[in-house]
Amino acid sequence: MLPMVVLSFAFSANTLEKVFLQLQWKHQFEFAGVYAAKEKGFYKDAGLDVDLIEFDGGTNIIDRVLHGDVTFGTTYSTLIYRYLKGDTLVMLANFFKQSPLVLVAQKEFKLPSDLRGKKVMVTDTTVNDAKLLMMFKKFNMEESDFTAIPPSFDLQDFIDKKVDAMTVFVTNETYQLDKKGVTYNVLDPSAYGVRFYDLNLFTSQKELREHPQRVAAFRNATIRGWKYALKHKDEIIRLILEKYNTQHKDYASLKYEADQIENMVLPKLYPVGSIDPKRVREIAQTYISLGILPPSTSLNLDRFIYNTVPDDIGLSAEESSYLNTKNVITYCADPDWLPLSAIVRNGHIGMDADYLSIISGKIGRPFHLIPTQNWNESLRFAREGKCDVLTLSMATPKRQEYLLFTNPLLNIPLVLVTGIDKGFYTNLLELSDKKIGIVKGYAYVELFKRMYPGIKLTEVDSVTKGMRMVAEGKLFGFIDNLITAGYLVQKEYVGTLKISAKFDENLVLGYGVQKSQPQLRSILNKTVATVNEETKQAIANRWTSIKIENGISHALLLKILLVILLVGLIIYYRYRQMRTEKRALEAISMIDPLTELFNRRKIDRMIESEVKRIKTKGCFSLILIDIDNFKNINDTYGHDVGDIVLKHFARILKTSVRNEDIAGRWGGEEFLVVCPDISKEKAEKFAERIRDTIENENFEKVLKVTASFGVAEYHRENIDNTPLIKRLDKALYDSKRDGKNRVTVAL
Ligand code: GH3
Ligand code: MG
Ligand code: MG
Repeated sequence: MLPMVVLSFAFSANTLEKVFLQLQWKHQFEFAGVYAAKEKGFYKDAGLDVDLIEFDGGTNIIDRVLHGDVTFGTTYSTLIYRYLKGDTLVMLANFFKQSPLVLVAQKEFKLPSDLRGKKVMVTDTTVNDAKLLMMFKKFNMEESDFTAIPPSFDLQDFIDKKVDAMTVFVTNETYQLDKKGVTYNVLDPSAYGVRFYDLNLFTSQKELREHPQRVAAFRNATIRGWKYALKHKDEIIRLILEKYNTQHKDYASLKYEADQIENMVLPKLYPVGSIDPKRVREIAQTYISLGILPPSTSLNLDRFIYNTVPDDIGLSAEESSYLNTKNVITYCADPDWLPLSAIVRNGHIGMDADYLSIISGKIGRPFHLIPTQNWNESLRFAREGKCDVLTLSMATPKRQEYLLFTNPLLNIPLVLVTGIDKGFYTNLLELSDKKIGIVKGYAYVELFKRMYPGIKLTEVDSVTKGMRMVAEGKLFGFIDNLITAGYLVQKEYVGTLKISAKFDENLVLGYGVQKSQPQLRSILNKTVATVNEETKQAIANRWTSIKIENGISHALLLKILLVILLVGLIIYYRYRQMRTEKRALEAISMIDPLTELFNRRKIDRMIESEVKRIKTKGCFSLILIDIDNFKNINDTYGHDVGDIVLKHFARILKTSVRNEDIAGRWGGEEFLVVCPDISKEKAEKFAERIRDTIENENFEKVLKVTASFGVAEYHRENIDNTPLIKRLDKALYDSKRDGKNRVTVAL
């Protein structure tokens, strides 16, 4: 019986997270964006199930949010006042750029100053009426200069002229007056430069701290809803009439309100939902200048205004403006690659999901998973531009045709998993003729085919399938990264499968970003750089900790723990290596960035392994190529054109070589091709063919380019005589000396 060792990990199933939004008034067009977000599925897309709570006239919205009775709220600029008084609030978004609260005055009163000594019905708190008081202040009037009447909220009092002026909402109450044919003047503080924010979306600092991703998701879905509502006013009015008409409004009055509200949101002037810290400061100043807040009040708004982009990430203006237009970042992931990544009932889990959640919180944008069936489909979606980001993926020349890659996030050795009865392999050439599986579409498929031509690579849909095939004896082994292989062996195949070889190659994983969105790549790079070691460690621990569910022998437990420790140590060692050795990244990479050919390091290794191989039998040839008069090209056309020629040259080389050959950049304008099992005669013919292709190719601007070639064959007898490359160099030198654009074979 297999012991029950279960690696614990959290499921984020497809169930939506429930949150509550307390509205500041009764249902009406004032909350159009919220209805749109709910009914059009924007909240759902963000993983949220939002309950809307209508204002009941009594509750204090800010207190309810602070106490955690509701998750989010909307309110007036009172929010700013309460924050300055010391409440731990966060303003997430602002929708009304000016307050709809105005004063209507009987028609003979044309200016605020006309109301001196008159009866004015104001709201019951000075804080709420701060903007009106400020308007009066501009006319040198104090509160005591008019008679304040307590609010009845009844328009009839104004119609009956019981008061000379009263506060109303320009979004709907003036409509009632118009309908009844009452004439009046609107005294609007914003007409006198007192512009207060209204309809502010907010939450508590606690909520933001504990659920940054949820806050980001909710905020962005709400903004998305508002954008939709303003573009489809009619649709949302009908929606309100149908589902939210607690006030029994009719179409015409909602239409009036909708138009007024558009003038408050001013979507053509301001990004919907944006907060201007300057405006918030002005409002704060108003409270101080009216004596509502003491002059000593600190105006530090750092913790108050929701920073969509925290300062420590240091985004450029261009990157910030990219984010401002980006509500949701879509991504494709590997659906079956635990503990790195998996899709379970449409929810994304794994270290990948943890990282994305942290990044999302930092940049204030939710990541939205585009579900796929397998990695190959994820790749295809990325190629077809169906997602902004392809997560945890490795840069390959092919992928770089349509994706830009960030700096690596994880760097994990590749290993071979086989049955427990198989040996350990240090020399992978021993694996010739063996059937080895690898996941279809993995970056290494192409490379392994080239590097280990003897191995029969079988592409499978997922790591789960591949491992099962090994366990069932349908495959000899399976290649994947150490973390995933270790995880699955421990989880499902203890006593059946084992890790029996470690390849030199590492899986270097970063984010692939659509080429059209270079800003996103730099944003991700900058954000990832701010994720500290502690967090990284916590993510790793979360996904590699084991839980014992059943009786298990001490010896076996120890064994398992040792394996995990080893995995951990190797990963830790790699991390340290990356940190301490600044140039490690370049070293780990095998690809020359300019030409996308293999780099010298890789070629060196390849030669080493060929030398080992021919110690018993066979041969290989090397072709060294040096572009003729390349300095002239640089001098005449500039370095950039020189680079283009190098790239073009590399492309020709890449398409000319056989699958078994390895073409690389040896340095500068020199290239080297390793041809396993090829004699010098064949190599010469091959070199001649390349020479001819180059000579007949038209290069950009430069047009004609030629190159000189040196060819040498190596076999058991001649391998130890002279240093390998020396013979090759000499042959190349002879080609140069004899007039360039020719092939010379070493003796
Ligand atoms: P020869 O026919 O004798 O080979 O002449 P050459 O001009 O090619 O000679 P040399 O090898 O001295 O010059 C190579 C030049 O290649 C020098 C260097 O500036 C240039 N070079 C090296 N790497 C790069 C690169 O990455 N981009 C560009 N544009 N030029 C490079
Ligand atoms: Mg040279
Ligand atoms: Mg040259």
